[in-house]
Amino acid sequence: MELKEYFADFVSLFFPAICVGCDSPLPKGTQHICPSCQYNLPKTNNHKAEIAAFREKFDGIVSVAHVLVYCNFHKRGLVQKLLHELKYNNCPELGEMLGRWYAHELLLNGFAEEFDLVVPVPLHPSRLKQRGYNQSMAVSRGVAEVFKLPIAEEYLIRTKKSSTMTKMNKVERILNMQQSYRMMMPERLKDQRVLLIDDVLTTGSTLIACAEQLHLAKPKSVSILTLAAA
Ligand SMILES: [Zn+2]
Repeated sequence: MELKEYFADFVSLFFPAICVGCDSPLPKGTQHICPSCQYNLPKTNNHKAEIAAFREKFDGIVSVAHVLVYCNFHKRGLVQKLLHELKYNNCPELGEMLGRWYAHELLLNGFAEEFDLVVPVPLHPSRLKQRGYNQSMAVSRGVAEVFKLPIAEEYLIRTKKSSTMTKMNKVERILNMQQSYRMMMPERLKDQRVLLIDDVLTTGSTLIACAEQLHLAKPKSVSILTLAAA
């Protein structure tokens, strides 16, 4: 046994790593999520049977080829805990891992040749500085690794910080978000099949604003992938 491994075992005797979902100690060889919680992930499986409610968020507003959502989000459920850990608890590795898991499933279900590059939904620079990482970038890294795709991080930028949108209706939200992102280097995306990635799909206004910007570059298609949908 290597010294490093020996030391890790020694530390875990006193500080066992626990599952984000159920707080039980993690078996050796697993990270963040125990096998039982992994098995019980509430997957949407909408790559096998499309769920109209997800696509309807984009219908008539912006053209999207695929809308891929890994899990269903329930209040106080497992997925809410995972997303909270990913976003607020300095755990980008969890996003990468979930991105890899989902991409493996998609690879096995005919999506191997569907995309040319990955674009993460960007964070505003001040938010990035505050959090230290972009959770969408973390998910993108996992997906891109499995699909062996480049990540085009610098093509889409966030120009405006978010304001509270809780009192806005759908149209107001979309208009508000539309001014928040800007396409850079559009020539690089021309005729590409772009996979736009975020951690969660809620009203869709963020992803609509980003997809609209991507379409300015005349890509072949824009698809959307998120870890969860509310
Ligand atoms: Zn668990």
